[in-house]
Amino acid sequence: MSARLLAPIDTPLPRRRRAELLAEIEASGLTGRGGAAFPTALKLAAVARTRNAVVVANGTEGEPASWKDKVLLAENAHLVVDGAMVAARIVGARRIIFAVGRENRTVRKRLERALAGRSDGFDCFLEAVPDRFVAGEESALVNHLNGGPAKPTMQKPYERGVLVQNVETLANLGLIARYGAEWFRERGTADEPGTVLITVLGAVRSPGVAEVELGTPMRDVLQRFGGLSALPNAVLVGGYFGTWMRAHDALDLPLSDAALKPFGASLGARSIVVLPQDACGLAESARVARYLAEESAGQCGPCVFGLPAMADALETLDVDRLRRLAPQISGRGACAHPNGATRFVASAVDVFADEIVRHHAGRCTGSARSPVLPLGSSREWR
Ligand code: SF4
Repeated sequence: MSARLLAPIDTPLPRRRRAELLAEIEASGLTGRGGAAFPTALKLAAVARTRNAVVVANGTEGEPASWKDKVLLAENAHLVVDGAMVAARIVGARRIIFAVGRENRTVRKRLERALAGRSDGFDCFLEAVPDRFVAGEESALVNHLNGGPAKPTMQKPYERGVLVQNVETLANLGLIARYGAEWFRERGTADEPGTVLITVLGAVRSPGVAEVELGTPMRDVLQRFGGLSALPNAVLVGGYFGTWMRAHDALDLPLSDAALKPFGASLGARSIVVLPQDACGLAESARVARYLAEESAGQCGPCVFGLPAMADALETLDVDRLRRLAPQISGRGACAHPNGATRFVASAVDVFADEIVRHHAGRCTGSARSPVLPLGSSREWR
């Protein structure tokens, strides 16, 4: 059996009992593909214990350096719908809401087509969500769907019967329900089974999205994208809440959270950006730090005051101030936004330390004319 996330499937979804489905998901070892890598079976079981459960398929993908969910929805929306129905069956939900970014017209059309004439006994809705970085955060998304602003709250939706699940995670549920846990575990590593959709951009010949087995050596992953197109300066792993790594460290690792952990990194948003040597890592990081400051929900002190101050300090390369600011920002907000931004900036200061010294001496080795890291929602999938 060779069905994959980005390939259409032509076998019907089998009707299986709730407990049997949940046991299969648990045995598969599937973890969330949206960033946090939380065990999917645990989340499903928690929501299954509540009343009036609702399933929210999260296809918002506000991370500018990631298009994987948009590609999945554009190429195989049926599989996401299958997975959402499997999840709804497990948690006992009748209502399923598919949430996607407002600007992603292609994705909305594909989902509409996939849902047309298909209910399988569920009430399915399609909701357009503001294209903001924090709008896809679980509590922000649920707040928006309940008629409030798309801003994070202190609540955990799954404790209140709302299963918010990333669309790639749901697509995996659709496959596991068909082919079983053993089939899923044939790929990946024993501790991190399966495949992931990954966005790779920057200094590779064919930037885009591919499905890759967990544990694949990073150099082989880059070959899937045509290989390096320039000498690498550094690698950003995990998107804008991710971590800069020195190229020689990153390229010798397998693609897994276990391998990245000693470097303080994780797969996060499943995005890898290879920064070419002619690009200035400090200028790139300062643009993203400013973007993250502007994209906060603007309702907690660390975001309102801390993130702009951190962006200022990175622009002026005031390393002492950055070190003072970090503990005042990280872990102090209602959501993980300030933590992610702080981690990203701290890794830039570490990996580009030599570049900071050169800048203070009035020199910058970057000569690239256009920026490498994208900001705003990715236009490719509108
Ligand atoms: S920490 Fe920042 S992004 Fe998160 S809720 Fe507070 S203001 Fe909004």
